[in-house]
Amino acid sequence: MSECIFCKIAEKKIKAEIVSETGKVMVIKDINPQAPTHLLIIPKAHYPTLMDCEDRELLGELLQTAQNIARELGLEDRGFRTVINTNEEAGQTVFHLHMHFMAGRPLTGRMG
Ligand code: AMP
Ligand code: ZN
Repeated sequence: MSECIFCKIAEKKIKAEIVSETGKVMVIKDINPQAPTHLLIIPKAHYPTLMDCEDRELLGELLQTAQNIARELGLEDRGFRTVINTNEEAGQTVFHLHMHFMAGRPLTGRMG
């Protein structure tokens, strides 16, 4: 069995707060939110990092999912931040590709 936490969530072997789900992508609430809205947009298939995924359709679906969340939450004009951390210096801690979606307060923190 995979030891990957996001694979286990995708396989429903461990619980998470699932916000939405399509065939290839799921959206969950981050367990340690850094903003009032902090979601994770996660492909169900396992890619350790962004650099391991060459599926253009899937990569597009991650961004389209962010658009859909923004529309559903009425954040298009107010704003939101999407982030993909890749490898050590970016602070990636879960090695299963995912995109953070953060919103709900001024995100004034440093980008780097
Ligand atoms: P990153 O540092 O970009 O790899 O982000 C990993 C994110 O996953 C962090 O923000 C964690 O809080 C979050 N996380 C880790 N485990 C879980 C979990 N079981 N359910 C929801 N979010 C999680
Ligand atoms: Zn995985």
